[in-house]
Amino acid sequence: MTRQKSSPTPHPPSQGNRDFRTRRSGQSPGDKNNSNQKNTPRGAPQIPVGSATAQPGILLKAGREKSLLRRHPWIFSGAIERVDGAPLSGDTLAVRDAAGNFLAWAAYNPDSQITARVWSFSETEKIDAEFFRGRIANALAARDELNLARNSNGMRLIHAESDGLPGLIVDQYGDVLVMQIGSAGAERWRDCCADMLQELCNPVCIYERSDSDSRALEGLELRNGVLRGTLPDNVEVVENGLRFRVDVAAGQKTGFYLDQRDNRALTGTLALDAEVLNCFCYTGGFSLYALRGGAKSVLSIDASEEAVRIAAANLANNGLDSSRAEWQCADVFQALRTLRDQNRKFDLIILDPPKFAPTAAFAEKAARGYKDINLLAFKLLRAGGLLFTYSCSGGISEDLFQKIVAGAALDAGVNAQIVHHLHASADHPVLLSFPEGAYLKGLVLRVAS
Ligand code: SAH
Repeated sequence: MTRQKSSPTPHPPSQGNRDFRTRRSGQSPGDKNNSNQKNTPRGAPQIPVGSATAQPGILLKAGREKSLLRRHPWIFSGAIERVDGAPLSGDTLAVRDAAGNFLAWAAYNPDSQITARVWSFSETEKIDAEFFRGRIANALAARDELNLARNSNGMRLIHAESDGLPGLIVDQYGDVLVMQIGSAGAERWRDCCADMLQELCNPVCIYERSDSDSRALEGLELRNGVLRGTLPDNVEVVENGLRFRVDVAAGQKTGFYLDQRDNRALTGTLALDAEVLNCFCYTGGFSLYALRGGAKSVLSIDASEEAVRIAAANLANNGLDSSRAEWQCADVFQALRTLRDQNRKFDLIILDPPKFAPTAAFAEKAARGYKDINLLAFKLLRAGGLLFTYSCSGGISEDLFQKIVAGAALDAGVNAQIVHHLHASADHPVLLSFPEGAYLKGLVLRVAS
């Protein structure tokens, strides 16, 4: 893909996101005549309505401007005194404090607890096609400047709030871009963003994977299909010299877990002669790095048959020794117990489960899940063994995750040291004003010998 190097326009620093918790009406971009009364999901917030004839805008309650002054990009329904005019979902509105001072331009969504997401904190900035060109160009330029393409042709090009584009995710797999939309504002500007991406990146295909569960909860229709160009039969990412097939139409997320790139590479450097257990292996990312790193054996487990099938094919495509690999399609919670009962032992275990807690409300239940698998993993590790353990739950903080893992070690009766604190790769930046962007955290622990 020939990316046009356009100089980034000097927009003010922007926001970051991860968790698309909004709910809104199923309105198409540009479909301004749609009433936003239909499709309102149950439990939608009660937003006080102001004068219908006044200039559309959001007025905050007294004292509720503080997070915006810190440049956090979300406006929750509870902070709103009233919404004037008769705005539709996806409209850009001025947000003002109780005294009427301008705070931000934000995309409105009456059906979401996050009633508005900020596009810009600058009153003079116009939210139009040029705005999106600028933000997209900035995101692309940052990745170029950080030289992120040197090890992989797969990369997150746009990381939503953290790149100043709330609700917009764009992942690159070679010549193919996959777009995922999770906010009413991004939905409104979907075609404009696709045009800009086509112009700036010249991909053979832009594929839309706007079909995550959170979108359905939010009342947005699910969409999965080609937006521009033609989807090639085989989409592949080459990461640190390893080839992975990417199922952009039906795979998880946008097809691949780009965020674990650097952590997979680290695993490869520590796997020599190790007996490895890779739990939640998906299409074999950590497994292939471990095998290439000289692992004695790798047992990989995932509940998805299709993922395991692609994983085995990836192994073959990379010419790695399949006699050292074993694939199991199973529930990890159950499989770990079976391995424990069989008295199996490993030198290196990877736990990279799906998101147990999308928000803090799920934290307690998620904590039990994390403790369970980490405790079992500690019991399966030999003295001196390594545990790579991750959480991609927005609702579990780094601190809480470490406490959960500490509790698991204690209950398993092992002493362990943290030897690495891990996060998502640099193509998933985290805006300082938006700590929610730091969803992925990992620890590498060494069990005392
Ligand atoms: N480590 C992988 C990404 C893992 S994503 C990589 O680097 O590519 C999480 C995986 O967990 C998904 O593949 C999903 O199919 C799997 N999964 C979810 N629940 C599971 C369960 N209970 N048992 C086994 N696998 C599960």
